[in-house]
Amino acid sequence: MSGERAPAVRSIASVKGMRDLLPPETAVWAAVEATARRIFGRYGYGEIRTPILEETELFVRGVGEATDIVGKEMFSFPDKKGKSLTLRPENTAPVARAFVEHNLRERALPLKLFYIGPQFRYERPQRGRYRQFYQIGAELLGDPGPACDGELLVMLACFLRALEFPQLLVLLNTVGDEASRAAYRAALRAYLAPHRNELGEDSRRRLDTNPLRILDTKVPAERELLAGAPALADFLSAECRAHFAAVCAILDRFGVPYRVEPRLVRGLDYYTRTVFEITAGGLGAQDAVVGGGRYDRLISDLGGPEVPAIGFAIGQDRLLDVCPESFRRRALPPPPVFVAPVGGVPVEEALAVAEELRASDVPALAELQPSSLKAALRRADRLGARRVVLLGPDELAAGELTIKDLASAAQERLPRSEALARLAREKEAEPGRGAPAAPGEQETARLARDDKETV
Ligand code: AMP
Repeated sequence: MSGERAPAVRSIASVKGMRDLLPPETAVWAAVEATARRIFGRYGYGEIRTPILEETELFVRGVGEATDIVGKEMFSFPDKKGKSLTLRPENTAPVARAFVEHNLRERALPLKLFYIGPQFRYERPQRGRYRQFYQIGAELLGDPGPACDGELLVMLACFLRALEFPQLLVLLNTVGDEASRAAYRAALRAYLAPHRNELGEDSRRRLDTNPLRILDTKVPAERELLAGAPALADFLSAECRAHFAAVCAILDRFGVPYRVEPRLVRGLDYYTRTVFEITAGGLGAQDAVVGGGRYDRLISDLGGPEVPAIGFAIGQDRLLDVCPESFRRRALPPPPVFVAPVGGVPVEEALAVAEELRASDVPALAELQPSSLKAALRRADRLGARRVVLLGPDELAAGELTIKDLASAAQERLPRSEALARLAREKEAEPGRGAPAAPGEQETARLARDDKETV
């Protein structure tokens, strides 16, 4: 019936805290991932891909019941048989589970694994904080020595330099072993107990469940109170001190800038000895971009053997937020060449030219609908092309092509093979794909080489 409108159909948006990543930004994501694969590969790391869903108990036992992640942030739900499953909030516990499940201890140790993929935490979404976010991480399993901690951090620095970060600062601390931490926990509790009423709700809860976490409070009054608290450093065993000193010595030797942060404890329960963080401040803003540390007890806590290990996770979303312009530019694909048939030349002829360009690895787009020259040039411009190949009846008959520069409007007619060769040469000179390694990377590669020989 005329005049009657169909009921409005509700359009569906993405789930809160989860977002789409679109081109061309995804090209930068892919370049960051390719760089991680390349650099981590140099250090002997192989990729592991674990399922996105795990049994909830893995994280309860692995990450720790008293952590924010397990206490408040997990996406957990029952499967059809009522078993509780969780979208992985982090990837270290799944890697540890896989290590035990596949008996990877039988392989040559230390085993070096890296992962790249989405993680899920039910947090309040804000800039740099999503409910689905991505991590690039590495885990070194089966060696308790400080050289592992050192080499892992040298590799991390190499990766960040390959992304062309002009500055870098690792915040480093040791949380000691279980015995030193237990003694410290008791001392911290005893110090804070008389001040219980001065603490906020979160810290009061942590005083009972996980007092070390109070150390990284952001509340100014609590920070003031903590200034007089006993220091974890005074509770460390001689072995823990020696381990930490050896890690620092490696960082000094291989030129990884770091600052010892006595109050750095990190949010996850499983850490022992070395812990570290890199904030965007260390790369140039505020939030933590990288977190990691040694976890010598996690695998045995999950029912496996005693396997000491260390690892880190880089928040890829935050990394991309602060990724240097120079890397970003190199990561974007070069502009396409646009091929326009004119004067009634069939579209297939333009397609044939585009195919020849693509065969020489030149990105090319062909005008697929017969249209006016003006419309074709407008489209080429909107698609980001700098060069347009014009193919009219004269060019077709003579075996030639006209190359038009969109910015200057200058054009030149050349024999077909010569025109194609020139466009291929011009693409080689573009800063995008196929560009040589970044200047900073050469320097770290040298350090990494020395590292391999001497560590
Ligand atoms: P964690 O696994 O908590 O040690 O976190 C490691 C890194 O992952 C952090 O430094 C952040 O860069 C990143 N990250 C953690 N949670 C989120 C989130 N909700 N959204 C975006 N990035 C996150």
